[in-house]
Amino acid sequence: MSFPENASPKLTEQLAAQFRAQAAEFGLVLAARCRFCGAPIWAPKSLAQHAGPICQSRNKNSDVGSPAKNQTDAAA
Ligand SMILES: [Zn+2]
Repeated sequence: MSFPENASPKLTEQLAAQFRAQAAEFGLVLAARCRFCGAPIWAPKSLAQHAGPICQSRNKNSDVGSPAKNQTDAAA
């Protein structure tokens, strides 16, 4: 029950860069999955957006950081 504050940090470009640097030491490449299509992504910019470049351009209008498009919470 005592997770540190940064247990689940948002993957910022800086954080991604840190991960990539650590992974590189082991000969690994940091990759994630596009939140739109699930394709593997590894470019720093893609990791920061959690989306591949194609999906980023397709979903420019969607909010970055909020996967739920339908915001049904008390919109009065
Ligand atoms: Zn995608």
